[in-house]
Amino acid sequence: MKKLNIKVGGWNFDNSYSRLSDKLFTRIKPQKVKAPELVLFNEELAWEMGLKKSEKQGLNGAEVFSGNAIPPGAEPLAQAYAGHQFGHFTMLGDGRAHLLGEQICPSGKRVDVQLKGSGRTPYSRMGDGRATLYSMLREYLISEALYHLGIPSSRSLAVALTGEQVPRERMHPGAVLTRISSSHIRVGTFEYIRQFVDEEHLKSFFHYTVQRHYPEFEDGISSRGENLEIDPEAVLEFVRKVMEKQTDLVVNWMRVGFIHGVMNTDNTTLSGETIDYGPCAFMNDYHPKTVFSSIDTQGRYSFANQAGIAQWNVGCLAGALLPLMGENQETALESARDMLSGFPALFRKKWLKMMGQKLGLSNPGKEDGKLISELMDWMEKEQADYTNTFRYLSDREVTDQTHWNGKEFQNWKKRWETRLQNETGGKDTALQTMQKTNPNYIPRNHLVEEALEDAGLKADFTKFNFLMEVLKAPYSEQQVEKDFNRVPIGWDDAYQTFCGT
Ligand code: AMP
Ligand code: MG
Repeated sequence: MKKLNIKVGGWNFDNSYSRLSDKLFTRIKPQKVKAPELVLFNEELAWEMGLKKSEKQGLNGAEVFSGNAIPPGAEPLAQAYAGHQFGHFTMLGDGRAHLLGEQICPSGKRVDVQLKGSGRTPYSRMGDGRATLYSMLREYLISEALYHLGIPSSRSLAVALTGEQVPRERMHPGAVLTRISSSHIRVGTFEYIRQFVDEEHLKSFFHYTVQRHYPEFEDGISSRGENLEIDPEAVLEFVRKVMEKQTDLVVNWMRVGFIHGVMNTDNTTLSGETIDYGPCAFMNDYHPKTVFSSIDTQGRYSFANQAGIAQWNVGCLAGALLPLMGENQETALESARDMLSGFPALFRKKWLKMMGQKLGLSNPGKEDGKLISELMDWMEKEQADYTNTFRYLSDREVTDQTHWNGKEFQNWKKRWETRLQNETGGKDTALQTMQKTNPNYIPRNHLVEEALEDAGLKADFTKFNFLMEVLKAPYSEQQVEKDFNRVPIGWDDAYQTFCGT
């Protein structure tokens, strides 16, 4: 394996989270590891963050990204949070992660730098605080793939081996991932404060989140002496905005066939970014009930359930913030319920717009909704590949056309083409939109597993690096058609993903 021997400088921390009340976190350093080795370093992301490689005064990359050395200005801590896991409320917190601090990028953007797999914390419960190389590489690959697909996501800066073994279903090489997010504030962070802290903290943390992600609501917050006064209307509108971001996120996932797999409220961010890539996977053959996660036996987080779950999660946020929504809690509850009941219509509108774009329809109406449903029904019945169906329609080469040559599909296609005549610019313009909306390449499960097996177990990164390169330009056409286009028959049938915890 190629060890990366680099030094990294350019750290520019400002740690607003560590200035918050210590009820929200525990100051703790990552646990040192035996023999750190840097195996992945995301140079493009480092550049965006203002980090500089090979600087004389920089720190050894393996040491920093394994948690052995703390970069200047960092103030490591583990965040406290709670969450609903598969519907059940529980206390959680960073059990194997350490926030080093917030890097202020050259653009002015503030991002969390967090180590994952970096050792035990007071929130570890029974866990060992560690992560396997396999699962950290998986998160690196898929989070970066989502980012390049144009979907809000945490990003991955580095993976370092710890030189230690991690016992799971068998022994694995241990590793630490450095993940970068615009914050790690979760619905579960608010639930924690509501359940286990107090209303003053709920107010000040609401203020903090507004400053960090929703400055448009700052006008609704004023201070009177030591106390914060918050306009209940601003809180309601804040939740509405979070709901909109979560809706956009799920619609985007559905655009590319992504199944997060563990949409617990602790994995739902206020920023609207995807985080916590555990058992996630991409759907190949279209079926709305597709689930890959071994623990999701009820299909709670299946492909099509993701929308309803997003609404449920935002409901938990509203519940946590209810004390700030007005003195009369009954009226507050009613307003919150009223707002949440707007979710299905909001989702439907955004989903229809997105599906319209997948088919080159700029302003899809009711009739188009029917056309789309017929296509979905056909895909489900035929077990047609979701990505390839839209690639085929987008005039991209699909090598095995068995599914799409059939009469039923061709009849549907004729009706769709007739419909396209009503579009300004006709089919040509439609195709331009479609080729920007429908990816050519997604992380196909069989390719991900092949790459991870080589890299995670045999320390051979050839396939991993190749796959990552392709996934950096998912909408362009590249010389890799066959594998991406053709999932081995039956491969997905028994495919299961694991949390890797
Ligand atoms: P997740 O399912 O990855 O979102 O994690 C749920 C909770 O379990 C979080 O509080 C994690 O910090 C914690 N956790 C997961 N894996 C470990 C581990 N190996 N050691 C300690 N805590 C863990
Ligand atoms: Mg989590």
